[in-house]
Amino acid sequence: MVSVIKKFPSFDLINTETIDKEFSIYLHIPFCKSKCYYCDFNTYSGIESMIDEYVESLQKEIYVWSKIVKNPKVKTVFFGGGTPSYIKANDISLLLKTISQSFMLDESAEITAEINPDDVTFNKIYELMDSGINRVSMGVQSLDDRFLKLLGRRHNSKDVITAYEVIRNAGLNNINLDLIYGLPYQKINIWENTVNKIIDLNPEHVSGYCLTLEPGTFLRHQVEIGVRKKPDDDLAADMYRLLCEKLNSAGYLNYEISNWAKKGKQSLHNLCYWKNNIYLGFGAGAHSHLPGLRYENVSSPVKYINSIKNIEDNNYSDADDLTNFRDQILGVIKDFELNDKQMQMSDTMILGLRLTEGIYYSEFRQRFGLNLDEIYGNEISNLKELDLLEVYKLNEDSILRLTEKGRLLGNEVFLKFV
Ligand code: SF4
Repeated sequence: MVSVIKKFPSFDLINTETIDKEFSIYLHIPFCKSKCYYCDFNTYSGIESMIDEYVESLQKEIYVWSKIVKNPKVKTVFFGGGTPSYIKANDISLLLKTISQSFMLDESAEITAEINPDDVTFNKIYELMDSGINRVSMGVQSLDDRFLKLLGRRHNSKDVITAYEVIRNAGLNNINLDLIYGLPYQKINIWENTVNKIIDLNPEHVSGYCLTLEPGTFLRHQVEIGVRKKPDDDLAADMYRLLCEKLNSAGYLNYEISNWAKKGKQSLHNLCYWKNNIYLGFGAGAHSHLPGLRYENVSSPVKYINSIKNIEDNNYSDADDLTNFRDQILGVIKDFELNDKQMQMSDTMILGLRLTEGIYYSEFRQRFGLNLDEIYGNEISNLKELDLLEVYKLNEDSILRLTEKGRLLGNEVFLKFV
């Protein structure tokens, strides 16, 4: 994220008039029992002693922002990480209480927690549900123990099946299972086996991402020194096609490049991101998107806790308070970017084209007061010629979306709208 100016923008920009009537909340829980070999997320093991203070800091950050962004309705809440299931269910409950006391939490809000199979017990799931969690996203990644080991996961395939049954028996009816394909040594039949078993489990939602060897991860290091084989990109593309075929014929809707859902079970929280809507992120390294502004909190949990401590407790009701708050909140924010109309249009294109339904010309016009072809006419016609984009008609509207070829080469398409 590029910092455009060093002074945090006026809070006049961030008020109930400029924020949407509905928005989403993300809470980052940066604790894991151990670090998986492929993971470059902002998460740490061995710092459990700071969980209590971290949760208190989150509560304060939520409270403080609720004084600035006054009354819009919270439509979705997402506990991500890290491993939210690693902390006490009571902490999740405290945080949800703080949200509902600080904002208007919609009665039908989608409230998701990421969980790991080895944390799942009946009591844990029951307590999470009791606190308000109504959707879980479980990090499965593979149902082959050799590959779970290769990824440095703590669970085995049997743990996944047991955890899944526990969640179902607890009565939760909105489960996402996360998968990773394109692993070193992974053959297509091994992947197919995992996909078949996932379909047999019958979750409401499946996410399938191709492995990327992120800089600084143990797995990338292993590949670089030749201890592990470099994954084969063509084979990974075949695995993606197989995943599409299998899930589509099992009745899942491929509503986003890497996400499938049963009817009505799309992730509302992730749709908020892909539709370039408004969200507040709380916690170390969390990202936020407010009208005309994106910002990112400091990554270090220690720095985050200390910066939150420096924020005074008050009601932020007059101009002086807001000026003080602006100065204090700068300690929590690592970087920010003012998003002018051009950038907002660009983000809307890049994110919206990930969705199978594509981008409605009418919605774009309503949002920006401009016709899509006026702004991106050349890019759209070039990409149509390359068979990467198509325009289709629905009722009176035109809709722009990726072709099947475009879905495989999405990054090339998105670059044209940067
Ligand atoms: S459990 Fe998830 S967040 Fe934690 S280290 Fe593994 S991949 Fe990363």
